[in-house]
Amino acid sequence: MELATRVMQVKPSVTLAIDTKAKGMRAAGEDICSFSAGEPDFNTPDHIKRAAQDALDQGKTRYGPAAGEPALRAAIAEKLNRDNQLAYAPSNIAVTNGGKQSLFNLMLALINPGDEVIIPAPYWLSYPEMVHLAAGVPVIVPTNAESGYRITPEQLEAAITPKTRLFVLNSPNNPTGMVYSPGEIQALAEVVVKHQLWVVSDEIYEKIRYDDTPHLSIGAVSSPAFERTIISSGFAKAYAMTGWRVGYLAGPEELINATIKIQGHSTSNVCTFAQFGAIAALNGSQDCVETMMMAFKQRRQIMYEGMAAIPGLSCIQPKGAFYLFVNISKTGLGSLEFCDRLLGEKKVAVIPGKAFGADDHIRLSYATDVETIQKGIERIATFVSSI
Ligand code: GLU
Repeated sequence: MELATRVMQVKPSVTLAIDTKAKGMRAAGEDICSFSAGEPDFNTPDHIKRAAQDALDQGKTRYGPAAGEPALRAAIAEKLNRDNQLAYAPSNIAVTNGGKQSLFNLMLALINPGDEVIIPAPYWLSYPEMVHLAAGVPVIVPTNAESGYRITPEQLEAAITPKTRLFVLNSPNNPTGMVYSPGEIQALAEVVVKHQLWVVSDEIYEKIRYDDTPHLSIGAVSSPAFERTIISSGFAKAYAMTGWRVGYLAGPEELINATIKIQGHSTSNVCTFAQFGAIAALNGSQDCVETMMMAFKQRRQIMYEGMAAIPGLSCIQPKGAFYLFVNISKTGLGSLEFCDRLLGEKKVAVIPGKAFGADDHIRLSYATDVETIQKGIERIATFVSSI
C-alpha cells in the first residue's frame, strides 16, 4: 500500500509500543516488571474524579469550545500567573488532548516546510517525529553525562541557522531526569531573544522535582523572552491523569488562535467532563501532588541506588521527572538488543535509549511500586551479569 510520504518518515512511538506489549504480557498472566511508559501508578485523586462525575451528572456531555471550557482556560491562566510569573490571560490558553497534542498543534501552527527546530538530545521521542509531520527539519544537538545532559548556550547558538524557527526546551527532562538551574535558563533565554527564535518550554514535569532548585519558566526571565515563549503542559503526570488526556498550550494570542483553528478541524474540544476534572485539579487542594511526590522520592532513591550498584551500568541521580537514564555501553549491547533480551529473558520492560537519541542508554520509569522496582533491579542485575 502506498502511504503518504509524511507518515513513512515517522517512527512509531516506542514508549507506547513497549508499554502496550508489557501490559499485554501481564494480562496474559506473565510476571512482568514494567518500567516502560512514564505513567504514575496512582489513582486519580478522588476530588478530581468527583468533579468529572458531577459534570457528567449535570449533563456536561456536549460539544464545547475548541479552545477549551472558559473556566478551565481561566484556571490555567491563573496558575501560570501565580506559580510561574507568566502574565497570561485566558485568551492566551488553548486546552488540548494532553501535552502531546499541545506540541503537535504548535508544530503545525508554527513550522513551514524546511524550517529547522533545535532539539537537545537525549529528547522525548515524539519531538522529532512531530517536526517531521509538520515538514520541518529536526536539528539534534547532542549532550552528555558530563554536561548533565544539558545544552549550553554556546551549543544552542552554534546550532542556529537562518532557517531556525524553534528551540525545544524540556525541564525537568524526559528521559534524563535533569533539571536546568535558573541561571542556565537565563543564559538560554538570552540566546533565544538575541536570535529572535521561538522557544517551546515543555513543563509537564514541573511539579516533580527532588531538590530545591526552583523551577524557572524561560518565559519568566524577561519580557522579551516572554514574547518568544510558548508553554506546553498538562495534568497527566502531576495529578495521575494520564488517560484523561487534558493538557494545554500557552503563548501569544495569535499563535494560540492558530492552534485552536487546527484543533477545530481535528479533534474539536477536549472531552467536556474531563475538563471539569482538570479545573478541580488546579483549584482544589494540592496535597495529593505532595503525597505522590513523597512516593516518587522514595522510589527514585531505591531505583537509583539499585541500578548504580550494578557492575557495568552507570547513571546520574535524577533531579526531576520519574525516569532514570542508565548508560549501558560497558555491556557491549546496543539499547534495542539490551531491551529486547531483557524483556524476553527476564520479563523486565524498559525503553531503549535509541528512541531518545542515545543508543548507549536505557530509560527506566520509576512511577511504579517499590516491590516492582526491587524485583526489577534484581532481575536486571542477573541479566547484566549473564551478558
Ligand atoms: N510521555 C510518557 C513517556 O515518555 C508517556 C508515553 C508517551 O507519550 O510517549 O513514557
